[in-house]
Amino acid sequence: MKNSADISRAWIEDLIRDFIATSPDNTMKNKTEEPAWDDVLVGFASGADSIWQQYKEYIGAFHWTPWEVFNQHCPQESASAEELTVISWVLPQRELVRKANRRAKKYPAEEWARIRIYGEEFNAALRRHVTKHLKHFGHAAIAPMLVSNWTIVKSGRFSYASSWSERHAAYAAGLGTFGLCDGLITAKGKAMRVGSVVAKISIEPTPRPYSDHRAYCLFFDNGTCGKCIDRCPVRAITEAGHDKEMCRQHLARSREYVKKTYKFEGYGCGLCQVGVPCEAGIPVKAAREALERGELPPPPPPLA
Ligand code: SF4
Ligand code: SF4
Repeated sequence: MKNSADISRAWIEDLIRDFIATSPDNTMKNKTEEPAWDDVLVGFASGADSIWQQYKEYIGAFHWTPWEVFNQHCPQESASAEELTVISWVLPQRELVRKANRRAKKYPAEEWARIRIYGEEFNAALRRHVTKHLKHFGHAAIAPMLVSNWTIVKSGRFSYASSWSERHAAYAAGLGTFGLCDGLITAKGKAMRVGSVVAKISIEPTPRPYSDHRAYCLFFDNGTCGKCIDRCPVRAITEAGHDKEMCRQHLARSREYVKKTYKFEGYGCGLCQVGVPCEAGIPVKAAREALERGELPPPPPPLA
């Protein structure tokens, strides 16, 4: 068994980076077998962070804390919340994928749709890879998105939500804040996919370098931008936020388009994630510069 002390941030980051660099699963499954991903951001959050309880109150009682999901699936370990760490990662979309989707006006570019299916298959393989390696060294771990009882739940406040939100785990792990369109704006932008694993290991949590959950969005910072509103082909984004049901219906319609046009079973959209100032970085200058200095940005002024 590898001691908990030996399972360091660097060890986990290397494990993830090596898998991205060497796994045959990292492919868009196109003619040239382009890799789906070439970079990653990794953050850590404590299972005892009070934010998990806040999510229960904000998202709904059905949203698991790390302790709940871990103990459901690893009952023999009986870990306390303090003994758990959430490992969260962000896989930023590659330039060629973002560039292709920037040209899209209604339905996704082929590259984007491939990432939605095959890139996410890699993300699932990455979750299994991380849990398998931690278990190999004697540390129980589970990927909440891959457990059999992960489910989507109807929600009065959000139209629908789920038992575990990867974006909220990433927010907790210091990786980004939410934008007007609901996407998570990270240091590598909003065009990305996220993954996480809950493990019985002790890793120092990543400080959350923001004091507000919308600190990286220009609209909430100073009332400007709103570019994601214009990018959405079905007007699912307004100044009031993101209409998840309209978005879901458009995603469902995209299935037929992807099959007919690109000849594979897939879907996607993500038009609001590209061709916008938050596509590949943090657009709020003060917040970006504060992150570079390792400081908290000033809280945004209240909107008029
Ligand atoms: S496009 Fe502009 S308004 Fe929309 S999430 Fe990004 S920064 Fe915020
Ligand atoms: S909100 Fe949904 S439908 Fe609109 S651009 Fe974004 S992903 Fe597409």
